[in-house]
Amino acid sequence: MGEVDSGRARGPEGADPLRPTGEETVVTIDGPAGAGKSTTAREVARRLGYRYLDSGALYRALTHALLAEGVPADRWPELDRDTLDRLAVEVVPGAGTLMLWHRGRRLTDELRTDRVNAHVSLVARLPVVREWLLGHQRALGALGRLVTDGRDMGTVVFPSAGTKVFLVADLEERARRRLTEQGSDGADDAELRRAASRLSERDEIDSTRETAPLRAASDAVVIDTTTLDFEEQVGRVVDLARKRRPSR
Ligand code: C5P
Repeated sequence: MGEVDSGRARGPEGADPLRPTGEETVVTIDGPAGAGKSTTAREVARRLGYRYLDSGALYRALTHALLAEGVPADRWPELDRDTLDRLAVEVVPGAGTLMLWHRGRRLTDELRTDRVNAHVSLVARLPVVREWLLGHQRALGALGRLVTDGRDMGTVVFPSAGTKVFLVADLEERARRRLTEQGSDGADDAELRRAASRLSERDEIDSTRETAPLRAASDAVVIDTTTLDFEEQVGRVVDLARKRRPSR
């Protein structure tokens, strides 16, 4: 899970990220898979001197634990809070974000395996899972000065966030970026089609689920990043956050 260096790091404007200001200084970045949310959010947080929360990592941690503990997928719809507690996933506040541990190990690469990618949306559509994670996310947001990315951050988790962005990009472009992240040049057509189909399957489950479906909040600014470079994406979100931030 990505994180800002330290909860006490000061941003370019000398802001103290630990000064509580509540949701008005929360920046939410939602959107479909591969739209560039996490990389953008992490850099926006760094520039503003805010904490960063990658909410997808929370769903990925539970998915990793369910798979590692051998709980069969056909039993997931029956999961309850006690079973989730027994999975021994720990969500630990620290270093400006939430850290994820499972059975005494900090989770990093385990969160992004193909197996987790293929199953995470099935876990994330379970209402009990969403409820289990909500408190952790809101506790971090209540401190203010947070940039967070996900699917429902502006609609459900932080409905009063001061800045809400919804990032979109063409499916093919998203697939190309995902392959590049994984070290491929994205030039092989068949590979590109497979990556696009994996992204669109995940989007379909995320946007059609009953609880907290993927959609833009009515007050979110939609930014299409298909033809934007990284610097432009980051710059637009930082500008929005600075405009909306109350003057002190
Ligand atoms: O953003 P990332 O690709 O890491 O998210 C993994 C999955 O976690 C998403 O496809 C979605 O199913 C779920 N998720 C969610 N709500 C969020 C963040 C992620 O349902 N706020």
